[in-house]
Amino acid sequence: MTIDVARIPVLSDNYVWLAHDAASGETAVIDPAVAEPVLAAAAERGWTITQIWNTHWHPDHTGGNAEIKAATGCTITGPAAEAERIPTLDVQVTGGDVVTLGAITAQVIDVPAHTAGHIALHLPTEQVVFVGDTLFAMGCGRLFEGTAEQMFTNMQTLGALPPETVVYCAHEYTQSNGRYALVAEPDNADIAARMAQVDAARTKGEPTVPTTIALERATNPFMRARDAAQLAERRAAKDAFR
Ligand code: ZN
Ligand code: FE
Repeated sequence: MTIDVARIPVLSDNYVWLAHDAASGETAVIDPAVAEPVLAAAAERGWTITQIWNTHWHPDHTGGNAEIKAATGCTITGPAAEAERIPTLDVQVTGGDVVTLGAITAQVIDVPAHTAGHIALHLPTEQVVFVGDTLFAMGCGRLFEGTAEQMFTNMQTLGALPPETVVYCAHEYTQSNGRYALVAEPDNADIAARMAQVDAARTKGEPTVPTTIALERATNPFMRARDAAQLAERRAAKDAFR
């Protein structure tokens, strides 16, 4: 792994990520909800933003696009299927396409369901994946524009990445997800152990992401769903869970 990844907490529970490649001097911003804190975080590190990668059109993932582009002249890459809803887009991509950060390659993976064109970006040499609002720590995105079948496929696809892959998701939803996970799989000791750590971290105001594919395979009730029907059942239960 040669890239440096920085976490920028914004709004109530969003994480914007900066991926910096020292070799080329390139820096990509993933899902900038807002501009100011992102520009400040890059400046603080002496990093120059050259790209924005959007995983989907939601405003809490694209709201900073225009201002960051105006300030830096960066190139914005995002899902072709959502181009009309991301008006600042320069480069439209779809599953199987490749995006580069210097000499580093990011594979575009289609993960529709939260939104119809949602993508993830997997950097195999770096062992990292940026998943937006598709996969969360012990959770998955809500099904706003797709089906449980699609989300089941997404969980299988992401779950098949190498277990050591570090997963950068766009929200701090872990504690709420974990409370539901304990109910969905009451006998899963890995979930109970993880929740003890999560509760301790949140008490101290610490983040609980990134996560890893291995940890999600062990503790994520959506990745662990045996089929689409069980994922649908669990998603509906989580939507209603307090
Ligand atoms: Zn979203
Ligand atoms: Fe979001």
